Amino acid sequence: MDLNQLTNDPEAIVEADRAHVWHHLIQHKPFEKDIDPRIIVEGKGMKVWDIKGKEHLDAVSGGVWTVNVGYGRERIGKAISDAVTKMCFFGGTAGTIPGATFSEMLIDKMPGLDRVYYANSGSEANEKAFKMVRQISHKYYGGKKSKILYRERDYHGSTLATMSAGGQDERNAQYGPFAPGFIRVPHCLEYRAQNDYAGDSYGVKAAEAIEEVILREGPDTIGALCLEPITAGGGIIVPPKGYWEKVQEICKKYEILLHIDEVVCGIGRTGTWFGYQQFGVKPDIVTMAKGVASGYAAISCCVTTNEVFDKFKDASDHLGYFRDISTFGGCTGGPAAAIENMNIIIEEDLLDNSKAMGLHLNEKLHELMDKHNWIGDVRGMGLFAGIELVQDRGTKEPVDEKKVMGIVADCMNQGVIIGATNRSLPGYNNTLLFAPPLIATKDDLNHVVDAVDQAMTRVLG
Ligand code: PLP
Repeated sequence: MDLNQLTNDPEAIVEADRAHVWHHLIQHKPFEKDIDPRIIVEGKGMKVWDIKGKEHLDAVSGGVWTVNVGYGRERIGKAISDAVTKMCFFGGTAGTIPGATFSEMLIDKMPGLDRVYYANSGSEANEKAFKMVRQISHKYYGGKKSKILYRERDYHGSTLATMSAGGQDERNAQYGPFAPGFIRVPHCLEYRAQNDYAGDSYGVKAAEAIEEVILREGPDTIGALCLEPITAGGGIIVPPKGYWEKVQEICKKYEILLHIDEVVCGIGRTGTWFGYQQFGVKPDIVTMAKGVASGYAAISCCVTTNEVFDKFKDASDHLGYFRDISTFGGCTGGPAAAIENMNIIIEEDLLDNSKAMGLHLNEKLHELMDKHNWIGDVRGMGLFAGIELVQDRGTKEPVDEKKVMGIVADCMNQGVIIGATNRSLPGYNNTLLFAPPLIATKDDLNHVVDAVDQAMTRVLG
């Protein structure tokens, strides 16, 4: 088919997509005939339009909490265009002007961290971190300190090593065997804590549960602890009071590197540049991706302290440097977009907006809780929130996932895009998720919550 004709013919696009595109994370069967694939053609601010002309208010920033500065930012498009026209790419053995500039800007926002390793996706950035930990283990501990701890319900990516650190069992089903040396620690969701465990000291106890695993495995076998600052896709789990302080103390005590996965929380989502900064933690390694360039370009970063970096400096050891490459880590479009993305956040005070609008969203969701007994728990921080749906507030039995997806679909019909915990999380696939662009206004959020209110009434009664 003539390509000009194709791009101007919405029906032909839908058919081309149906015939040839393999969509992410979705059952394909319905696309065979019953349901058209959704094609999003344009975005501005917090709104997107699909190929049928329908307008949607997007409360999950591109479906997967990415477009932090909102859609249609011409200045980011121009920055990418200028950068790639002048110098599109050079492999990471050399530097580029956008790469050096963004690293300087980024490190300025991350006191205590020093070095930026560029890659393209969150999974890839996490892989880099795992490889650093493993190499340090070989170089300094005879290969013994190589285990990496990860937490139940956390997610770190779709590659095999990151899935080996995946805390969501059904996501992993049928993809094993996985890489050895990844050890799971318990989650820290107080709402789902055992009764004798909950209370004021829950945060400390949940962190002590990590220590128990460390002692069981042997502290000298553990190289790193990898955690999301707030568990995202696993249900918006904000660690309780005392948790992070204790985690930091434990890592220090057993000389375990603290790797924080900021792929979702990084770059303003929670109201500070990074989620860990809400808790006063000092990580050794931080990975980030989605909000770094708000999806305008593919870029991720694995950021480390100089203490970590210096472990790879020994010139006398021919295997001593970090023998890793990410070809497209040398693209200039990513850091050029990231520079403008960060400038926008600063100029438009989007961290403050995330904080203020986050409080508003939280308040509105609590009002909804007064109205719908189905809501068992409301949690979140900044423009990042979740409501957990239960059949009964006493037993906390989760609402059936079909109903949860029914609410998402009803909102979609109303022109509002919200998210839900992944369908493959049995036992906790019952949380509605919100992560709107950081430009969201009170009116936008009221509109989203009204849609959820109506959808819940229709679907749950
Ligand atoms: N880490 C977290 C916390 C994530 O939520 C994700 C993706 O959703 C990833 C890592 C993986 O990022 P990517 O899909 O860019 O590989």
